[in-house]
Amino acid sequence: MTIDRYELFDQLCLRHVRLSGHSSYGIGGYADYFAMPATVEQFVSLLEVSAVYGMERVVFGMGSNILFPDRPKRGKLYVSLKNMADLTVNESRWFATAGLPLSMLSLLGLISGPTAFPFTYLMPGSLGAGIYMNAKYYKEQIGDKVDMISYIDLSDPSLSLRQIRAEDCQFAYKQSIFQHKPWIIVGAEVTAPEHEGPISGAISALLAKYQGSNGKLSSLFSFYSFFSRELRELQAERVVIPEPMLDIERYRMGNRHFTYRSCGSFFKNNYAAGASIGALVDRLGLKGVTHGGAVVSPFHGNMILNTDQATAADILYLKDTVSEAIHRHYGFMPEPEVVIMKE
Ligand SMILES: Cc1cc2nc3c(=O)[nH]c(=O)nc-3n(C[C@H](O)[C@H](O)[C@H](O)COP(=O)(O)OP(=O)(O)OC[C@H]3O[C@@H](n4cnc5c(N)ncnc54)[C@H](O)[C@@H]3O)c2cc1C
Repeated sequence: MTIDRYELFDQLCLRHVRLSGHSSYGIGGYADYFAMPATVEQFVSLLEVSAVYGMERVVFGMGSNILFPDRPKRGKLYVSLKNMADLTVNESRWFATAGLPLSMLSLLGLISGPTAFPFTYLMPGSLGAGIYMNAKYYKEQIGDKVDMISYIDLSDPSLSLRQIRAEDCQFAYKQSIFQHKPWIIVGAEVTAPEHEGPISGAISALLAKYQGSNGKLSSLFSFYSFFSRELRELQAERVVIPEPMLDIERYRMGNRHFTYRSCGSFFKNNYAAGASIGALVDRLGLKGVTHGGAVVSPFHGNMILNTDQATAADILYLKDTVSEAIHRHYGFMPEPEVVIMKE
């Protein structure tokens, strides 16, 4: 039996959902409408019907780089693509859907042989958002690792699927064309790692485990537990883990990335004063400064943590404190990397 798109919309669209449960910050009030489509078709139906109803929409991924408002605007539909997490394996090409965790991409690569994605191991967040923000770790960035990107242009009433080549996406430091267009990424092609023998069984098994965990991974600790356990299991099966992946784990654990609620680095780096934002915050003695339930991380100056039921207002207060101090002492305003959703 086929169900029509309005019925599907009613089934998918939940009412009165707390956004704090869908952000690694653990912050955000109640959204009037909330949905997590599992396929591109479901996502398109949500877009079509919400357009007919004239609803404003916010589309996001795993919520690891977004500060939701304490009081979301009434009538808005929030759509998380984190259940749209799949991978289609062809000979030399993989197609990954937007909700696939970046960290999963590194493990799936590992199953096949030398992975092109060791740098995305333990990077919270989804592929779609990784492309949107051109996520990077050390010297490697997502924009260099994807080939053809599929997206939907929200300003096109037909909502048809379009494609753009990576070289046309204007990738630069934490920049992409998607930040300047009403385009939603639904997936991307990546070059498959070279491998010997069949791998699709092992890939399907790992994907099924993740999909079974549903939306649970918005807590950073459960995210870390899942992926580090899977890495250890691969290691036990004699898969060789590249040293850079082990280094990443040491670095992120050392900086307490999964101990406290955060959205990672709050500001984009800017070396106008010859040092990273984290180093400037350190020099200004702002590490450990608190406001309400929020604190400038004592471990990494460019992180603002939610340590005790912080509100968005608490985080924004510390963001302003840091920005103003940097402006006063070093003459520039740092640009937030975390996407701040206005009320
Ligand atoms: C502990 C920690 C460490 C981190 N370390 C790093 C790091 O090393 N490097 C790094 O680059 N980032 C890092 N981040 C930030 C974050 O993980 C990445 O930016 C990630 O790509 C965000 O993915 P997400 O799915 O959670 O995005 P969300 O927070 O859900 O969304 C972020 C933005 O992307 C947009 N967006 C999401 N999906 C799509 C889509 N499909 N199409 C179009 N726009 C979309 C949203 O509208 C929003 O504006 C870290 C975060 C944490 C919490």
